[in-house]
Amino acid sequence: MLRSALLAASRSPQVRTVVEKFPPTHAIVERFVAGERLEQAVAATDELVATGRTVTLDHLGEDTRDAAQAADTALAYEHLLTALKETGLAASAEVSVKLSAVGQFLPVDGEKIALENARRICQAAADAGTTVTLDMEDHTTTDSTLSIARELREDFPWLGVVLQAYLRRTEADCRDLATKGSRVRLCKGAYKEPESVAFQGKQEVDLAYVRALKVLMGGEGYPMIASHDPNMIKIAGQLAEWNNRGRDSFEYQMLYGIRPEEQLRLAGEGNTMRVYLPYGQEWYGYFMRRLAERPANLVFFLRAMATR
Ligand code: FAD
Repeated sequence: MLRSALLAASRSPQVRTVVEKFPPTHAIVERFVAGERLEQAVAATDELVATGRTVTLDHLGEDTRDAAQAADTALAYEHLLTALKETGLAASAEVSVKLSAVGQFLPVDGEKIALENARRICQAAADAGTTVTLDMEDHTTTDSTLSIARELREDFPWLGVVLQAYLRRTEADCRDLATKGSRVRLCKGAYKEPESVAFQGKQEVDLAYVRALKVLMGGEGYPMIASHDPNMIKIAGQLAEWNNRGRDSFEYQMLYGIRPEEQLRLAGEGNTMRVYLPYGQEWYGYFMRRLAERPANLVFFLRAMATR
């Protein structure tokens, strides 16, 4: 109930206006977001890399309805990738892109514009010597995102995509994508989805995650296990063993600010541990989804608001 309300709020312009009028203190947002500026994102990346972790950076933004803003987002990614190249961080840091931030929802030629902008970002990543992963948004975008990914992979075969275990279709998508060279990030899914397309309960979603993970770990691609769930992490380790996977043939991923000790433990064991690091001014949707995921995050938020 609470999760649904928060996820609905994450997409509500009215609630957004209210929250942005009384923004949470910096300390709260900074728990999940590296900062608003590029330099802050680069500094946070540097710190994570110094502790043996790798990074995927997200220039915050989504649901763009303006072509100029979509182009600006692509430009921001180009600047970011140049900075990663110049600082030598590109060897350990890639970028994550939401297609809705680069034009997918524009009423005219949305998909075409998103493809062109994503292509610019992929080219900048190739020039910097790193990679891109396309985030996955709500289920209405899955086909479009996978089709854009297919097209981009013809020129950029290292392009990663995200699949969400809560979607009923995902096990089949995993089978399609568990091929040589294919990078797939498996997460549980963060949006409010109807029962017709998505499993609803935690147990059902967890079981679906394990089924999807079995397909990916048994396949020929490069699985990216994006979860903070101790059970999923343990099962991933077991599946890697059963499938004789070396530590360089898959990776773990977690969000910035969540379970940092566990991130360090996994990295310390010789695994690739990638931290998803968001930065920028458009923190609202991302922040609200994090609150929806975990009641403790909401309590932390409300307590801090009460003591402002
Ligand atoms: P949950 O079921 O939320 O949590 C399970 C258990 O994990 C908890 O019981 C607890 O033991 C532990 N845990 C979780 N959070 C915390 C915490 N804050 N502190 C301590 N323990 C905790 N979603 C999308 O829809 N599209 C995307 O493109 C996408 N990209 C992602 C990229 C990355 C790298 C990650 C990590 C997540 C991404 N997500 C994305 C979000 C994802 O779908 C989930 O909403 C989110 O990760 C929470 O699911 P979970 O697997 O951590 O498990």
